[in-house]
Amino acid sequence: MDRHTIWHPCTQMKDVEDHPLINVQSAQGIYLFDPEGNSYIDAVSSWWVNLFGHCNPRLMAALKRQADTLDHVIFAGTTHSPAEELAERLMALTPPELTRVFFADNGSAAVEAAMKMSYGYWHNTGRLEKTKFIALDSGYHGETLGALSLCGEELYTNLYGPIMPQNIRVQGPDCYRCPYGEHRESCDAPCFEHMERAVAENADSLSAVVAEPLVQFAGGFKMYPPVYLKKLRACTEAHNAHLILDEIATGFGRTGTMFAAEQANVCADFVCLSKGITSGTLPLSVVLTNDNIYEAYYADYTELKAFMHSHSYTGNPLACAVACEVMDIFRDEDVINVNRPKHEHLRACVEDRFHGHANVGEIRSTGFICAVELVADPATRDPFDWKQRTGFRIYREAVKRGALLRNLGDILYFLPPYVITETEIETLVDIARESVRAVLD
Ligand SMILES: *Cc1c(COP(=O)(O)O)cnc(C)c1O
Repeated sequence: MDRHTIWHPCTQMKDVEDHPLINVQSAQGIYLFDPEGNSYIDAVSSWWVNLFGHCNPRLMAALKRQADTLDHVIFAGTTHSPAEELAERLMALTPPELTRVFFADNGSAAVEAAMKMSYGYWHNTGRLEKTKFIALDSGYHGETLGALSLCGEELYTNLYGPIMPQNIRVQGPDCYRCPYGEHRESCDAPCFEHMERAVAENADSLSAVVAEPLVQFAGGFKMYPPVYLKKLRACTEAHNAHLILDEIATGFGRTGTMFAAEQANVCADFVCLSKGITSGTLPLSVVLTNDNIYEAYYADYTELKAFMHSHSYTGNPLACAVACEVMDIFRDEDVINVNRPKHEHLRACVEDRFHGHANVGEIRSTGFICAVELVADPATRDPFDWKQRTGFRIYREAVKRGALLRNLGDILYFLPPYVITETEIETLVDIARESVRAVLD
């Protein structure tokens, strides 16, 4: 029935003729189930959102409690305790400079709000010429036109060039193919020179620099060292531009610390959070910012300085209540520390099964993310011809073997819910290895 009515995201619908969609009837923990009784390990945490497993009992209970009390209410002119509590929790987890929480309902919307807040700050403080944003060439920040104008990956952006705001894209870190011949473990980020130059040259018209800290997810699971972030914070400060850190995918423990920016000990002017915030239960996002920004909007109504931005489901109580329970789980179960041996096990398994394979270019990991970049030739690091769809074919093989291991081009990545066990990690990596064998060996 689906094929006659539904248009799926990020999918060539013609593919569905040969590769039917998985009909997910139910889900529990790391598993998805179809009506025939087959199970699939959710190896990508349902697009990076799920932390504590599907239908997590604590989260479902919190949702049911909230559903009996308050479903949703307009968030202008009202407030409610789920939002208040969540704001308190987020403040407690982030640097003291971040004092204000703005709610939205998805990642792209949070990025748009941060962009508008940044530009509005300069406008409200008399710097009308500061209208530009700089982003990295492998960055990804969402699909709406403002957020898309900060994305590097041409597969998503090329078509829309004529209708997007014109922002500035800068060559960023590319540690696997480092043009400086350095290593991410030891370098001092000489590649920052491109950003340094772009920020200096555009300082007068620059509103903010936007980046994903430490791991660029959709841009190819590129991982770069904290020193780059430190330089970015110093440089934006020196040139009087904001720093917007997009922790939508990195946040909530995915990189091994609660937030990736902690590893560089930097605090941005705006932090965008979403994805894991409700552990994949309901859509929710926030922008965190500081008093300095907030004060630039705080004035008598007639000065027309208010931040005129809203979404219908802003501050949804059901989502906020679940997010509060997510924060409780982090605290009660010492998640960050409990995760550590698990992600080390994941890395070790992937190394064990994939190291030395004739098409493995690089195995890279940060926290609970492990990516395997497949290439035509590891010696030259030349990719496969994209038309062969190597990664996609491996994904299809993995589905047959019981894992939803959605590829990103020719990169296979393991980004499971944190509740995965060590044995399940081994099963998953074995499925991946068998699937690679079926396609390449
Ligand atoms: C997913 C993602 C977004 C966009 O979030 P949506 O909820 O899909 O709009 C933005 N930035 C990053 C880093 C992401 O991974």
